[in-house]
Amino acid sequence: MPAKAKRAMPETIRGTVVTQRRRCGKANCRCANDGPVHESVVLSYSEQGRSRVLILPREEVEAVRAATERYRAARKRLEEEANAGLAQLVSRLRQR
Ligand SMILES: [Zn+2]
Repeated sequence: MPAKAKRAMPETIRGTVVTQRRRCGKANCRCANDGPVHESVVLSYSEQGRSRVLILPREEVEAVRAATERYRAARKRLEEEANAGLAQLVSRLRQR
């Protein structure tokens, strides 16, 4: 296993893992006719308001997907905690 693959995956990664299906545009490629189109698993994310994709090596797909799921779960927890905090403050200050 190459050293690169041993690097620890970050705990959370922003973005969504999706399978992209596309035709490459080469006239003589199988995908131009009846053959299957090209599939790649990518991390789709936004950077400065732009949507970007990063092609993922097959062996990293599951770990990246898991990190994006941890990110979504953490974001949801934070959102719920912050909403509860807001509700608490609102109810306390409105009672005065
Ligand atoms: Zn093609």
